[in-house]
Amino acid sequence: MSERPSTIAAPSLESEAWNAALGVVESVEPSVAAAIRAELRDQRESLKLIASENYASPAVLLAMGNWLSDKYAEGTVGRRMYAGCRNVDTVERLAAEHARALFGADHAYAQPHSGIDANLVAYWAVLASRVESPRLTAMAAAHVDELDDEQWATLRHELGDQRMIGMSLGAGGHLTHGFRRNISGKMFDQRSYGTDPETGLLEYSAVRDLARSFRPLIIVAGYSAYPRLVNFATMREIADEVGAVLLVDMAHFAGLVAGGVLTGDFDPVPHAQIVTSTTHKSLRGPRGGLVLCEAALAEHVDRGCPMVLGGPLPHVMAAKAVALAEARRPEFRDYARSVVDNARALADGLLSRGARLVTGGTDNHLVLLDTTPYGLTGRQAEAALLDAGIVTNRNSIPADPNGPWYTSGVRLGTPALTTRGLGGAEMDEIADMIVAVLRATTPAPASGAGTSKAQYRLEDDVASAVASRARELLAPHPLYPSVTLE
Ligand code: PLP
Repeated sequence: MSERPSTIAAPSLESEAWNAALGVVESVEPSVAAAIRAELRDQRESLKLIASENYASPAVLLAMGNWLSDKYAEGTVGRRMYAGCRNVDTVERLAAEHARALFGADHAYAQPHSGIDANLVAYWAVLASRVESPRLTAMAAAHVDELDDEQWATLRHELGDQRMIGMSLGAGGHLTHGFRRNISGKMFDQRSYGTDPETGLLEYSAVRDLARSFRPLIIVAGYSAYPRLVNFATMREIADEVGAVLLVDMAHFAGLVAGGVLTGDFDPVPHAQIVTSTTHKSLRGPRGGLVLCEAALAEHVDRGCPMVLGGPLPHVMAAKAVALAEARRPEFRDYARSVVDNARALADGLLSRGARLVTGGTDNHLVLLDTTPYGLTGRQAEAALLDAGIVTNRNSIPADPNGPWYTSGVRLGTPALTTRGLGGAEMDEIADMIVAVLRATTPAPASGAGTSKAQYRLEDDVASAVASRARELLAPHPLYPSVTLE
């Protein structure tokens, strides 16, 4: 790898690389090359506040586009079902070593193709290691392909009876934490814990009560839309009290753990037996997943492929290794700190302009804005903001009166704009722009009676004024400044 941080590499190198690569693509399918070029233009022009997105470095992106993609490599490092995997072994080993060192984990598994896949690997690993009957444990762990039909039916039945608890969707949990629209909701009998209706904060006593009465095998902690910290030491105490495994899904906040912002009780790795993540959100890597675990679970986690995963993606594991190496650099700590400072500045800017935020603020990288005071659904607010050049996503708020489709909130996150170099003053300006748009938006009549939850009217002059402020704000912070496409 280059000695220089990839973000400040010589412009000509990266421009040459991409122009040459796109030229090759263009010679076969020009429309694909055009879509790739257009995507860079779109991303450059948008004020991206989607909490789960980021911009990977040129080194990460370039590590993915190559012939490592051509290899099959089922199995794990040194134990593959295919011959000729020595280079795949190199990149997978590196990705796992960087992950272990970065997060201080006993074991890391770099194969999951996404966060959902990482959770499935983790659930299977826990089931295989922790189902109570020793007979089932042995069956689940080692001899699945040797079982006769009756044994297989027994195994499936008994594993399927296992219990899990996780944060409710309304409080900010994720579908993979045991909800019906994901296979986890079919694998487990699930109950949710929520947040205090007054404060919006996680209620540990309610988690403890639920764990005591429901006796889950797994307690899942972690979230997609909770703007505060979770005390993982307390969650582990609760898990230990009921003999459960603590599984933390840090998909959203892995970058804050990597960057040393979440430490002590708020760092999941020393407290959870197993931790899952994505690599593309605050961690700023390629799209993908990761599982970290204590040594006792390692052999079960390493069975992820082919138990629940398709063949590994060696080119993506190469990019994970690059991204994790970047996250081990001191400048990533500054980045992570700035992500949180920016989220706080955005929250303060919104609050000072009268906005209502779930929990009244933020301690992490995201802010959950309640759109009901503006008379809008989340869907209307999301669409109006997009018209004004601000990209967000609608999100349920606790006890949401509009359900998960229309919602009553928008989720705002700072990882991407922080990568572009925007700071606190710009966050305050963005807060002003968001409030200006929401105040200038009204629900439009539905085609039948009443008002629609989707249609809206945004005053044209506000939309264009905010869009031009967005362009001005972004101009001094070019995205991929080292890349000039022909
Ligand atoms: N876990 C959490 C907490 C998430 O927020 C997400 C995605 O938003 C996932 C898992 C799934 O990640 P992926 O989209 O990579 O499958």
